[in-house]
Amino acid sequence: MTTPSRYSAEPIELTLEPWLLEGTPAPGCAACTTRATNRDQAAKAGDWKSACNAARGIRNHHNGHRETP
Ligand SMILES: [Zn+2]
Repeated sequence: MTTPSRYSAEPIELTLEPWLLEGTPAPGCAACTTRATNRDQAAKAGDWKSACNAARGIRNHHNGHRETP
């Protein structure tokens, strides 16, 4: 009984699903390329929320590519 029952200062561990960071930027699409760059930088910085948001933007943007010439 030496361990105090306190919350430690460890960072919160997120349950990160791999697919959350997936998303293939469309070739020639500036918006997708920008999001992919943001995703990589955010992931490197440990900012998973921003990385996931960027990846989701890439996936969602595929819906807009069909209409784009
Ligand atoms: Zn796009």
